[in-house]
Amino acid sequence: MKVTVVGCTHAGTFAIKQILAEHPDAEVTVYERNDNLSFLSCGIALYLGGEVADPQGLFYSSPEELKKLGANVQMNHNVLDVDPDQKTVTVEDLTTHDQTTASYDKLVMTSGSWPIIPKIPGIDSDKVKLCKNWNHAQVLFEDAKQAKRITVIGAGYIGAELAEAYSKTGHDVTLIDAQDRVMPKYFDSEFTDVIEKDYQDNGVQLALGETVANFEETANGLTINTDKGHYETDLAILCIGFRPNTGLLQGKVKMAANGAIITDDYMRSSNPDIFAAGDSAAVHYNPTHQNAYIPLATNAVRQGILVGKNLVNPTVKYMGTQSSSGLALYGRTIVSTGLTLAAAKQQGLDAEQVIITDNYRPEFMPSTEPVLMSLVFDPQTKRILGGALMSKYDVSQSANTLSVCIQNNNTIDDLAMVDMLFQPNFDRPFNYLNILAQAAQAKLASTQDATVKA
Ligand SMILES: Cc1cc2nc3c(=O)[nH]c(=O)nc-3n(C[C@H](O)[C@H](O)[C@H](O)COP(=O)(O)OP(=O)(O)OC[C@H]3O[C@@H](n4cnc5c(N)ncnc54)[C@H](O)[C@@H]3O)c2cc1C
Repeated sequence: MKVTVVGCTHAGTFAIKQILAEHPDAEVTVYERNDNLSFLSCGIALYLGGEVADPQGLFYSSPEELKKLGANVQMNHNVLDVDPDQKTVTVEDLTTHDQTTASYDKLVMTSGSWPIIPKIPGIDSDKVKLCKNWNHAQVLFEDAKQAKRITVIGAGYIGAELAEAYSKTGHDVTLIDAQDRVMPKYFDSEFTDVIEKDYQDNGVQLALGETVANFEETANGLTINTDKGHYETDLAILCIGFRPNTGLLQGKVKMAANGAIITDDYMRSSNPDIFAAGDSAAVHYNPTHQNAYIPLATNAVRQGILVGKNLVNPTVKYMGTQSSSGLALYGRTIVSTGLTLAAAKQQGLDAEQVIITDNYRPEFMPSTEPVLMSLVFDPQTKRILGGALMSKYDVSQSANTLSVCIQNNNTIDDLAMVDMLFQPNFDRPFNYLNILAQAAQAKLASTQDATVKA
């Protein structure tokens, strides 16, 4: 069986390892247009901010490792065309520029995503950078040494992390976003008000609710003109989102409107010999039970493994995702899973929300920290739809607990009473997640009381 893999970061690396584990006799050829594989982009901000001293630690595999496992690894090779009828790929060797055509029995599209680059005048300037892969990370690291003023465009997770990182390395940082809050897709204003204050306290200039109109190179830098202001900068970094890298299969397999390949539960595209995984594919989003585009490494590694398991026979189903994610900014752990209230309403779901603050452990302990928590739930079924937590205490694993609750269709009643350990070092007789769900129950009861009285 000839297997061709297009692209090798996370989904590709995990797919290849699993395919070779399940089918040691398979002839697996991988084409990767870069000279490296398995780079963890989630470490870019840590590297730029000086927390990761050796960026080589951000690679967990190598061409040599995959070769040793039996793969034919073709680095610096760009796949130019896929012919699903002939079952062939046309590939360019980026060193010699030779083109060859090779046949496959199964094709694995792990070609990922690329930053969205809107058609804004001046965006082609050398001073406007992208932040996606190892090549970008090196450019950003080097260019930041010469730059004093750095502007991050896009206050999603990635832009939020970059702005924090550069504010810690002595740069004058501006964070621009068209939305009027940072990370509005993930957090309510109770959370983002605190985050925005942290930015301001650390010297980051926030330009929220502003849309970039154009970029103008000047004698000593770059001017970013928005609909409301002008920002002088040495370097701008574009972080406004990602688009699936799936042009090769356009019109050849079923895709979502943005080009994400639609797969079944076994990672098969609409062509049964073409599999897709990671940022090139849509995911099943459990809170809505719909397809969605959620480009995360968490999805890429899981889906990559499933390609290996399901390559010949549909064996193991994809469990879907809650889009659980987290970040650490200025000493706070900030995590979320599933839907915000606004996102739930946008999806046409009946949803309620409770937001509370509680200390993570008893006040009689030498110290404790408040935890700001949100829980979104369906008031009819009581099913948990989403949640978020923020604290100076490490509450990251609590987002994972909420993620499991959503995955398993648990209700606020389940979470209110589920057994969780108690010991004063860690929490109260009821863990703060139990207390959050109990607050949701109380809110629901009071809404129902009010409805009955009315
Ligand atoms: C700054 C940053 C921080 C992030 N932080 C997190 C995080 O904390 N947690 C998290 O879960 N996710 C995070 N992500 C998202 C995560 O990095 C992606 O979801 C992940 O990289 C997807 O892996 P992938 O293998 O599907 O695709 P990609 O990483 O996009 O890799 C696709 C590969 O395919 C290659 N390729 C594409 N087309 C071709 C072709 N025609 N021929 C040959 N090769 C091709 C590309 O060169 C690339 O190597 C972050 C992303 C960024 C940019």
